[in-house]
Order: sequence, then structure tokens, then C-alpha cells
Amino acid sequence: KEELNIIQGALELRSKTVEDVLTPLNDCFMLASDAILDFYTMSDVMQSGYTRIPVFENERSNIVDILFVKDLAFVDPDDCTPLKTITQFYKHPLHCVFNDTKLDAMLEQFKKGKSHLAIVQRVNNEGDGDPFYEVMGIITLEDVIEEIIKSEIVDE
Ligand code: ADP
Repeated sequence: KEELNIIQGALELRSKTVEDVLTPLNDCFMLASDAILDFYTMSDVMQSGYTRIPVFENERSNIVDILFVKDLAFVDPDDCTPLKTITQFYKHPLHCVFNDTKLDAMLEQFKKGKSHLAIVQRVNNEGDGDPFYEVMGIITLEDVIEEIIKSEIVDE
């Protein structure tokens, strides 16, 4: 029955969208772009346990960079390095997708390997103003795989 579950999960990739499985923006661990990599910030990052951390400017919905925890390998907290110095050095590309992207298409994008984390946005055309892109959250390869195997992967 485990196998049956997986087959069903795989079939559902064609109908489910990234919006169904994303991690909402409010639950994302992120850093402000003007953060200083002092001892406190770096311990926060380590304690979060995440390997990729979106970096926002001014407001959380404005993601401008991704910090990989491995980027911190040569950073000494005593130097109080500005986060910008690191993000501008590595310049990891942002990978954005729309909320209605089907999970099978998302899996293909992840397999191509640019990045295993994508920022999910939607077109907000509610209200009177012009429509605008609104960030809803993030999705990673793990979120897609959990949909296939239909169970939570407990993190290390
Ligand atoms: P990690 O390698 O950092 O553990 P995974 O890609 O394994 O991340 O994803 C595990 C889960 O954590 C997924 O549900 C993903 O959406 C979520 N996730 C990944 N990065 C973050 C983050 N910075 N803040 C909040 N949730 C995150």
C-alpha cells in the first residue's frame, strides 16, 4: 500500500499546484538585507536549521536575494560583516514561479537544477489599483517530494 500511495501521489502532481504545498511567506525564516552578520544573527540562522534563507529589502514580500548557509563558512561573527557583502559576492539567482504552476512542471524545473528553492508569486488583481505581483511563499524540492510520498520528511 506504500507503493500505491506513491503512485497516487505521483499522479496527483499533474493536478496540484505549487500554491497547494508552499510554505507561506509568514512562516519563512528570512533576513533583512541590511542585517549585520554578528554573533546573534549568525546563531539565529544556525538555529533556524534552514540551508537557504531568503533576504528581503524593506518588507518581507520584497525578496531580493537568497543566502545559503554555506556562504557563511568563511564569515567570522567578530568581523560584523554586512549581509550585503556576502549576498553581493555570491549573487545566487532568484528562481520565481507562479502560484498556478503544476507540481509536475515544478519538479522538472527543480530537476534541471538551477535551484531547489523557488519563490512563489501570484498576480493580485483584487482592489481598484493596477494588478501587481505578490509573493505568497516559497517552495522547495522537498515540498514536491513530500507530495509524492504523501508523508512528512522529518528534517535532520
Ligand atoms: P532545508 O534544506 O533548509 O531543510 P528543505 O528544502 O529540505 O530545506 O525544505 C524543508 C521544508 O522547509 C520545506 O517545507 C520548505 O518549504 C521549508 N523551508 C525551506 N527553507 C525555509 C526557510 N528559510 N524558512 C521557512 N521554511 C523553509
